[in-house]
Amino acid sequence: MLGVMKRPMGELELIDRIREGAGRRGGAGVALGIGDDCAILRLPKGHELLVTTDLSLEGRHFRREWHPAESVGHRALARGLSDLAAMGAKPLAAFLSLGLPREMMASRAGLRWVDGFLRGLGWLAEEVGVPLAGGDTSEAAGEQVLADIVLVGSTPRGRSLRRSGGEPGDLLYVTGTLGGSAMELAELRDGRRRRSGEHPHLYPAPRVGVGLALVRRRLASAAIDLSDGLSTDLGHLCRESRVGAEVWEERLPVTAGANLEEALHGGEDYELLFAAPAKVRVPRSIGGVAVTAIGRLVPGRAVWMVGPDGMRKALRPRGWEHFGGSRAKAPGSRAGKPR
Ligand code: ADP
Ligand code: MG
Repeated sequence: MLGVMKRPMGELELIDRIREGAGRRGGAGVALGIGDDCAILRLPKGHELLVTTDLSLEGRHFRREWHPAESVGHRALARGLSDLAAMGAKPLAAFLSLGLPREMMASRAGLRWVDGFLRGLGWLAEEVGVPLAGGDTSEAAGEQVLADIVLVGSTPRGRSLRRSGGEPGDLLYVTGTLGGSAMELAELRDGRRRRSGEHPHLYPAPRVGVGLALVRRRLASAAIDLSDGLSTDLGHLCRESRVGAEVWEERLPVTAGANLEEALHGGEDYELLFAAPAKVRVPRSIGGVAVTAIGRLVPGRAVWMVGPDGMRKALRPRGWEHFGGSRAKAPGSRAGKPR
């Protein structure tokens, strides 16, 4: 309940609100959640912990004028869940550190934004069954919102998927379709808001179930999630696996309405890219999510795109760059900041 706030909401009140919405489902791994100095987690027997952190900065990863508050909360959690999915981990608990501008804590609109953020995060947490088990809260020094999410997950010991396990000859697969996030971001930037249908940019679906299935069924030799863009993330997988790759242009599952540039370089689709030995039978769909063979790993270090005519050209990483400008090069005319 919001009411009219005469003074800035205090940290305790905010934590109480967060605690109310923290979600009690799926908390088997959390022996002690919000409220004490530390959370206490329980690891299933024979499992090991995986930890990932993701920083979401206003102006850098989202804009309040483009992204509804619910989307900012959803996306902040989705990024971490996608990292867990990439390694085949089961999510155990999430931790949220928030830096909020003073004016936001003092105004009705600001409080509505915070509530929206927590709601969006809560929806996805509920869907995936990951409890919010703690965090930290502070007034931001400036005008911008900062949200840092830590996710903790587990896999049976030694069974997590790595970027480094690929071998020449392995086939390459992606889940879902690519380019939808960049396409929707371009629409938002141009002030065209979708009324209905899918929202691959505002509400991406991290592939937690697929990651778990890949581990359980021992299908993948290597995996990564597509956060920065296929061209960039495939480069990461190849570097860690010390291999090259070829991507078959005709086989790429491009989101309806998106273009090839967006599919290759747009990023933020949060699909999984994985390799599997050619002799492994990989299903065409896992838990209702499409899985498409898009190429293979090859000896050497070069990454190639093979066109419909069989011609090869180099596939250079042109996705998201974390420093020094948003991208190495703008992918087509439609994509833009922020990511
Ligand atoms: P301390 O000062 O001991 O670090 P805090 O007063 O910051 O503790 O936090 C009190 C409790 O509220 C802790 O359990 C902490 O994890 C939780 N908490 C604080 N901020 C957040 C947040 N943004 N999201 C979730 N839990 C939070
Ligand atoms: Mg303390």
